[in-house]
Amino acid sequence: MAQISADEIRSRVEADWNRIVDVLNRKIALASVSAKGITGEHMKRSAEFVAEQMREVGVDAKVVQSANPDGTPGAWEVIGSRVVDPDAPTVLLYAHHDVQPVPDPAAWDTDPFVGTEVDGRLYGRGSADDGGGIAIHSGALKALGDDLKVNVKIFIEGEEEMGSPSFIPFIEAHRDEFASDVIIVADSGNWSADIPSLTTSLRGNTCVDVTVRALKHPVHSGQYGGPILDSNTLAAMLIASLYDDNGDLAVPGIAAEEPIGGLQRDLDEATVREDAGIVDSYTLAGSGSLASRLWTKPSLTVIGFDAHPVDGSFNVIAPETRFRLSLRTAPNQRPEQAQDALAKFLENNPPFGAQVEVTRLENGMGWAMDPNAVATRDALEAMEEAFGVAPINKGEGGSIPFIPELQRLFPSAQVLVTGPEDPKANAHSPNESISLSGLKNNVVTEALLLAKLGA
Ligand SMILES: [Zn+2]
Repeated sequence: MAQISADEIRSRVEADWNRIVDVLNRKIALASVSAKGITGEHMKRSAEFVAEQMREVGVDAKVVQSANPDGTPGAWEVIGSRVVDPDAPTVLLYAHHDVQPVPDPAAWDTDPFVGTEVDGRLYGRGSADDGGGIAIHSGALKALGDDLKVNVKIFIEGEEEMGSPSFIPFIEAHRDEFASDVIIVADSGNWSADIPSLTTSLRGNTCVDVTVRALKHPVHSGQYGGPILDSNTLAAMLIASLYDDNGDLAVPGIAAEEPIGGLQRDLDEATVREDAGIVDSYTLAGSGSLASRLWTKPSLTVIGFDAHPVDGSFNVIAPETRFRLSLRTAPNQRPEQAQDALAKFLENNPPFGAQVEVTRLENGMGWAMDPNAVATRDALEAMEEAFGVAPINKGEGGSIPFIPELQRLFPSAQVLVTGPEDPKANAHSPNESISLSGLKNNVVTEALLLAKLGA
């Protein structure tokens, strides 16, 4: 049977458009801030609303409460399925129904919990992250209707913005209900409202605490200063030794990768400088494309440093300094391997033979998509047909911890990371918004992708 055409899908999405925007507006009004209590009634109401919307588009959806690893009650989750043919491929659709808090409503130009349309964008907390993901799944399933040729499972999570504490036990308890061939995670975004993207990779993360010690006790800087360097200076020397002259990290055993699937377009330096607020005189560190430096090469940050405060300081040589290093790791490197390489380098290169002690902290795995998988190619084709322009792959420098976890729990599934955001979305910030034309194209994309996966 012929696959449903892109034009047919688009006209169905147009006909359904008011409903899709209405779902998003009602979702925003529910103010499902998980930081106000994952187990709260407001979160249960939000989950029930989402389950109702999913039933409306043919998914047998229900609300269940997860349990935290310590056994206490967890988040209100929405799960369900629509089975069309036991022999057809199965696709798991993921989004989350909780939203970020609004610490300062006065920082918004509109009421954060009233969806408000301004110049083609819908403003409101959760309009993009991740109400947009829910709207995409709802619109795509509605557009396909009885033309759906894949089995669909859904998982709409209720605690993503809180770091998903019960995610692993929940998935493990519902493994059969989530087992699938393709997992579409609609919680990321596009290059711009007009240019679609798959998110190709996420960096991993590891941390170590380091203590540098040269003295058994503090001594006077006038009496002993000279041959004895203070521990802050020794710590600074140790940190500086991790870099080469270009500002690239130069620790043997810490991997660097190039953008997954190849670099299609580099990031614009002026935009990055503007967005990050970089002072004019600063030249960017590292070598290679800016995209590789931000997405797939390792980066190290001193995120904590114990030293005497400037106010009240006096003439003493500090005996001991402690600092915390956060290392973002290349997508495919095991973070414990990078951590090990970092720890060994620090321990083996003590400035002037100072004592260096390294405490190894937690690790989080990165993730890389398979650029050659059929599902990946189907997704890229669907994007081009829906948006009318070629997609541009993009990586993420940060982590979305549940994605590598999903991949670990379902190693044979193809994970596709899509989503409603674009660089103007301000997810997690005041004036969050979603591009309505981008949302419409995202809905058409996902419907086309599901059609292709079923062909
Ligand atoms: Zn999100």
